[in-house]
Amino acid sequence: MRVRRLAAVVAAAVVSFSGLGALPAQAAPAEQPTASAATRAIAGSSPENMYEFLETWMLDIGGYWSSVPGLAPFAYYSFPAAGESVESGCGVPTTDDSAFYCPLDDTVFVSQSLAARIWDGTFEIYPGQFAAGPAGDTGVLYVLGHEYAHNLQGELGLYGDPTISADDPYPLINTELHADCWSGVYLRAKLDAGQLEEGDPDEAVWAAARVGDYAYDNPTHHGTPDQRVAAFLVGYDNGQPIACDEVLFAQY
Ligand SMILES: [Zn+2]
Repeated sequence: MRVRRLAAVVAAAVVSFSGLGALPAQAAPAEQPTASAATRAIAGSSPENMYEFLETWMLDIGGYWSSVPGLAPFAYYSFPAAGESVESGCGVPTTDDSAFYCPLDDTVFVSQSLAARIWDGTFEIYPGQFAAGPAGDTGVLYVLGHEYAHNLQGELGLYGDPTISADDPYPLINTELHADCWSGVYLRAKLDAGQLEEGDPDEAVWAAARVGDYAYDNPTHHGTPDQRVAAFLVGYDNGQPIACDEVLFAQY
């Protein structure tokens, strides 16, 4: 089964279960939170606050994309707590390192532990290789925006049969970088709405660079740090979803 991950890093997991939240297209919060308010809410980075942060912004991302003509996105989300593992429809249980979208249950999975470690810079990219700096709240938003973009890609038919990886019409690196680009489009909308603070865009760029990889021969290669940053910036600088076509169609 295919799982769309943020990075090509995965680990084994234990199993348990928790419920899924639903993310309907019209789920945009009536009162849009600001990034600074979200920063205050996360003070202490407790799991309870991280869940609230992830849920608030997942709904905001869904609300943004619902406002884009031609899209009626819908997805579920699940944010397992640290040490908790949730079964996904893709046969891959979550771990504390999980950030992926599963097309078979139409669900974005992001571990609260991973989000907290991306936020504070203790995220271990590969065993022994740490992120070497905090990506902050907007780094986590970049991750959420990337995973949600995979849901949009699925709804737009950019994937083939979700049970057959070889059926995909685009190389994996193209859809991964396209998801980075659409994460940039969303964050540009937040900038234009006055919801980003100084330094927030750099946090997203930082996070995009940290999850790049050089595993060229690995079929799960998502793009180098430079490629991921460049793809993110195509979307962020332009602000229009259509601008990301150049990433989707590029030769990597
Ligand atoms: Zn991905």
